Amino acid sequence: MSPIAENLQELKRRISETLQGDSRAITLVAVSKTHPPAMVREAFAAGQRDFGENYVQEAVAKIGALADLPATWHFIGTLQSNKAREVAMQFDWVHGVDRSKLAEVLSRHRPAGKAPLNVCVEVNISEEATKGGVKPGEALALARHIAALPGLRFRGLMGMASPSGDEAKARAEFAVLRRELEAIRAAGLEGDTLSMGMSQDWRAAIAEGATMLRIGTAIFGAREARAWRAGAA
Ligand SMILES: *Cc1c(COP(=O)(O)O)cnc(C)c1O
Repeated sequence: MSPIAENLQELKRRISETLQGDSRAITLVAVSKTHPPAMVREAFAAGQRDFGENYVQEAVAKIGALADLPATWHFIGTLQSNKAREVAMQFDWVHGVDRSKLAEVLSRHRPAGKAPLNVCVEVNISEEATKGGVKPGEALALARHIAALPGLRFRGLMGMASPSGDEAKARAEFAVLRRELEAIRAAGLEGDTLSMGMSQDWRAAIAEGATMLRIGTAIFGAREARAWRAGAA
């Protein structure tokens, strides 16, 4: 078995162990940023279907190189409005939407022949000034705006915990995201997705109701020093 297939198998075993019979469906998004298409193929061959990318240029080249694979692509990085058109055309999901202007550009450029783009609103749960995301309490207004746009489908919320390594702190931050989604649903919007949990903190995320984990290092190993480019090995 390839190392990536082994990592995937071990991770899935630990996830189901952590779920302890909880029947919630969890989607594992394999974060392939900086890694070459060959590694994505290896994960795909092992049954992985959802992949996450952060950098538009790298991602578009990689998606092109892997056009023969029926994979689901998630944009999880920081997105500038001037690159939103590419993302709206190439991706199936965008996790980091935190302003209405960006949502409008994504909706406008979603090709008519494709299903609406699945969108999560990013909430700044670590309250670090440098991180993206709306403030807790501001997610509902943006979710309403997104739900009314024809090219988008509001799916839920995305958040990143502080990289403290402190499990209790991560849980407290993920709980903020869970309560935000509960409030949005109580207001009558449909939203089934809590995108939270990375290699270091996915257990805390599951404990707080995650439905989507975004995991890179635990599947692919340490990231390359620079982004993959077409033409590179
Ligand atoms: C890179 C990245 C991940 C994956 O991080 P790992 O620690 O490698 O699992 C998840 N989410 C976002 C938003 C990322 O940028």
